[in-house]
Amino acid sequence: MSSDRIATDADICLPGGVPASIASGRTTPLGGGDRGAEDTRPRMAAGIDFTAEQIHHSACQICGGPIGLLFEKTTRTATFSIVRCADCGFAFVNPTPSEDAIVAFYTQAGCQENSLLSLDAVTEAERIDPITSREAKRIVGRMRDATRGRRFLDVGCGYGQFSAEARRHGFSVDVIEVAATERTIATELLGFAPTAVTFECHQADHAYDAILMSHVLEHSREPVKWLRKAASLLSDGGIAAIAVPNFGSIVTDVLGKNDPFVTPPAHLNYFAPRNLARAAEVAGLRMLRVETVTYIPKRSFSRRLGRAAGLASHRLFHTVASPVLDGMKKGTVLNMYLGRAA
Ligand SMILES: [Zn+2]
Repeated sequence: MSSDRIATDADICLPGGVPASIASGRTTPLGGGDRGAEDTRPRMAAGIDFTAEQIHHSACQICGGPIGLLFEKTTRTATFSIVRCADCGFAFVNPTPSEDAIVAFYTQAGCQENSLLSLDAVTEAERIDPITSREAKRIVGRMRDATRGRRFLDVGCGYGQFSAEARRHGFSVDVIEVAATERTIATELLGFAPTAVTFECHQADHAYDAILMSHVLEHSREPVKWLRKAASLLSDGGIAAIAVPNFGSIVTDVLGKNDPFVTPPAHLNYFAPRNLARAAEVAGLRMLRVETVTYIPKRSFSRRLGRAAGLASHRLFHTVASPVLDGMKKGTVLNMYLGRAA
């Protein structure tokens, strides 16, 4: 979860809603959307048949409102149709690719290009630019302050930094992660192996006081179902924390389909504050807190401006611009804290 990441294991339980997708296939206009729409584009990409057993949504997955094509995005894998709800603004890849296609995609794709491959590399990256450590301290700190219980579930733990932070705060941590490389690194960091299971397949014999879903929900084939599962696992007085890219950010406003977070098939769902709140409500959760955060890596500045000017610009951006953006909920990452609805 440290950064965005994807799942890879094909031989583990992956029912209905694993991170990410692959879809090509036409999406019909408002309110339409059914099998059989003509599609003249290539039906195979990287040997995967993305059109097999897709799920065509004819309405918003969150509110049932009418959907229409927002744009198409072509990636190295295929061309994906992204639709948006006219009522709540939720955007998502439609049709949803089959589970088999997703498993095949992750098996082929392996780790993302920017994935780190060892704990040393993770540690060094954090030494240079401690983005994940800072986020872990902030998010886990808020969770600790919100609940007296100490049972913590980290859904898709990534490199394990959030779980490590949770343990430092006295939480008893259950950790699940499907991506093999991330699991290996997390095992080294935590001293025990995260369970290689998807959220759907995770079985718990007790409720959790804190459930973390950091950069996982945007990958889900069935995001509302995942939120329902979180609600069902949450204790009375427990807190769920969600982090997803903010599709209502200033970056999205300016760049549209070129927003760097628009990365199908890895990202299937594109949330903004309003519709994530609606999804949570539909799933039986109530909002405790919402905020956006903006952090642009140092290297993004230094690559363009050189080291000295890049670091100065990085500092200026994060002391001046990003608080303004976050004050308007226009920051790049959306954080939502939720409790169980009464
Ligand atoms: Zn909607």
